[in-house]
Amino acid sequence: MALQFYNTLSRRKEEFEPLHGKKVCMYSCGPTVYNFAHIGNLRSYVFVDVLKRYLEWKGYAVTHVMNITDVDDKTINGAKAEGVPLRAFTERYEKAFFDDLSALNIKPATKYPRATEHVGDMIKMIQKLLDAGVAYKKDDGIYYRIAAFKKYGALSHLDRASLKSGASGVRADEYAKDAASDFALWKAWDDADGDVYWDAPFGRGRPGWHIECSAMSSKYLGDSFDIHTGGVDLVFPHHENEIAQSEAATGKPFVKYWLHCEHLMVDGRKMAKSLGNFYTLRDIEARGGDATALRYLLISTHYRSQLNFTFDALIQAKNTVDSLNDFAERLREAKGRPAGRIPRDASYKSDSERMKDLTAHARRKFEEYMDDDLNVAYALTVVFDFVREANKLLSSGEMDAASAKEALAFMEDADRVLGVLKRKKKREIPAEARELVDAREAARRKGDYVEADRIRALLRGKGIVIEDSKEGVRVKWLD
Ligand code: AMP
Ligand code: ZN
Repeated sequence: MALQFYNTLSRRKEEFEPLHGKKVCMYSCGPTVYNFAHIGNLRSYVFVDVLKRYLEWKGYAVTHVMNITDVDDKTINGAKAEGVPLRAFTERYEKAFFDDLSALNIKPATKYPRATEHVGDMIKMIQKLLDAGVAYKKDDGIYYRIAAFKKYGALSHLDRASLKSGASGVRADEYAKDAASDFALWKAWDDADGDVYWDAPFGRGRPGWHIECSAMSSKYLGDSFDIHTGGVDLVFPHHENEIAQSEAATGKPFVKYWLHCEHLMVDGRKMAKSLGNFYTLRDIEARGGDATALRYLLISTHYRSQLNFTFDALIQAKNTVDSLNDFAERLREAKGRPAGRIPRDASYKSDSERMKDLTAHARRKFEEYMDDDLNVAYALTVVFDFVREANKLLSSGEMDAASAKEALAFMEDADRVLGVLKRKKKREIPAEARELVDAREAARRKGDYVEADRIRALLRGKGIVIEDSKEGVRVKWLD
């Protein structure tokens, strides 16, 4: 089966065929930097990360652009409330956003363009729309005439018959479907904007939110590109308006595949700043939660299903991530038994041959599920089945070194997409501690368990633990 994505535009799964061979151009709506991101926002960024990692896993070269909205009503109000310049205000939250991405092991986009640095591009696009007669001027700004765009409503399946003719015009960037009407491309300056303004041929003011994404995506990805992502709340009006602006300005199809991530919920309601029911990553960490566990929790439910957040689920996610890391660590350390012994499973010539089969099967199934519109939940069951089988061999001392390597290669390959295995290089166990481990072994062989226990306690005091297993002694740092 080929790679398929559910396209919001057609409301069905479609085979993925990029416009230019193995090159994929992708745009994601990024944060409005007026506050810390909540973990609902983070779900949409982690989703994009898995999408991008999987495309790369499949051998595509991905150019990924994510915008930073650093000028809008919310950022202007925030800066005003604190009495600081807009940039000083947004800088803080922009930095926090990048910290969150890094804590969640999200691979950086190719480019993070800021809206304030692309107002010239937006002005050009608005001028085009004015010249084409799709936009018009009012006292308080420039508006887009939605009646002039035949396909308006195609993405959100809006009933065109319900559109009011001679629509009054919406100045706010966000509004409900039943308020669909001409929307602001440019907001004329007024006192409330203070020193935040740009001078355009059509007057002093600032851009609306929607034009930002149309102008910046075409600048970096071209007039037509492959994938556009966002949370489901952006389908209307934001993405509908992006299509209307871009296609009217360029005359070309804007985006081939629209992918939208469902909401993170709390007690049955969307997690949202406006509802006050949100947690930031800092809140989670302050309660002892762990960023990698959060990443795991957020990706383990299909991106098109709602996910209800609970701390219990976060604890479970932490246990799972720990067990995956522990398994990978044991494989890394596995010295293995000598190769060439009679395999456990008589239908194989050797254990390593059996392991090759296990990994090949797991890799195939993993890809099959991920190809099906990124079914991470099912792909994870493949990983768990694999871990269970491989663990049996490992724990009974039946795994040879080549098989351990093979198994580890599968885990690390799957993790190129999942991103939950520890990245930090292993801290070395100092030579002096290794000597103590050997001394303890020697004591045990002599039957001197008092001495063996004394050395174990000594090592523990240095933060090093010893575990005895069938594979031999494992030595690791306590943390
Ligand atoms: P904002 O910073 O409000 O512009 O939102 C940034 C991204 O987070 C957008 O793609 C939103 O669709 C998405 N988003 C907002 N709330 C949630 C939520 N509760 N669950 C998932 N995604 C969300
Ligand atoms: Zn956008």
